[in-house]
Amino acid sequence: MYQRQAAARPGGLTAHFLGTSSLLLSDGATTLLCDGFVTRPGLMRVGLGRIAPDAGLVRAAIERLGVRSLDAVFCAHSHYDHALDAPVWCLQTGAVLVGSESTANIGRGLGLAETSLRVVGDGDTLDYGRFTLTFLDSVHSPGDRYPGVVTRPLVPPARTGAWKTGAAYSVLIEHPVGRILLHASANHRPGMLDGRRAEVVYLGIGGLGKQSREFVRRYWDEVVGAVGARRVVLVHWDDFFVGLDRPLRPLPYFADRFDVTMAMLLPLAQRDGVEVVLPVAWDATDPHGELD
Ligand SMILES: [Zn+2]
Repeated sequence: MYQRQAAARPGGLTAHFLGTSSLLLSDGATTLLCDGFVTRPGLMRVGLGRIAPDAGLVRAAIERLGVRSLDAVFCAHSHYDHALDAPVWCLQTGAVLVGSESTANIGRGLGLAETSLRVVGDGDTLDYGRFTLTFLDSVHSPGDRYPGVVTRPLVPPARTGAWKTGAAYSVLIEHPVGRILLHASANHRPGMLDGRRAEVVYLGIGGLGKQSREFVRRYWDEVVGAVGARRVVLVHWDDFFVGLDRPLRPLPYFADRFDVTMAMLLPLAQRDGVEVVLPVAWDATDPHGELD
């Protein structure tokens, strides 16, 4: 397993991982963002209080990453750890917010215009520059804490549970340079990736430490194996109650079991000859770098 990914290089895609399943992806002309969750409120506030996006943290992230333009922000699903900040990125950059009707209602609650919202369904594709995004209905990982849909514009601050799941997507990102599957939540729908290919999977592993070996094997085979990936970048493993100004660390033991997850995943990766990467936040990396 690798701690660091290949560095970004001219002509390749550039990816910046921002914890959870937040990922900034660019080919130099077009820039896309998944989730963009940077507020990361603390455990007490999430558990007992009300939460709201921190526009200052979004602004700081935009500056630190050197984002000059942003075409689209898409949400893997509508829980707060995916969709809390997404509309703020759109407000600050003019990007379109893409996702379920629940995600659109989160955008409306923060004042995004209808023209800046794009609701997608299973199998829908959207083109941004040389990128093609395909949204595939998936299933949230077991033990969804906030199931349901957001039926009205969500105006923060609000209780954490107001950010209900909506639809959970696996997003196939195709570009002439290479293909990426961004699969944020550790579950799947059998057959959902039939006929899809991607060299790199950003694989959500949140909660896997509490699942059976059989569940993990099927998840690996039917997501990583199905698309024929050669590299897996692990996402949604970090403790998102801690700010992004500190190094990422795994979720505490009461919430998940990172070591147990690794003990189940790594033998599968070794069996299939798939490289596994534990990404570092903020680094400029090339998802497909040094693959061949
Ligand atoms: Zn979730």
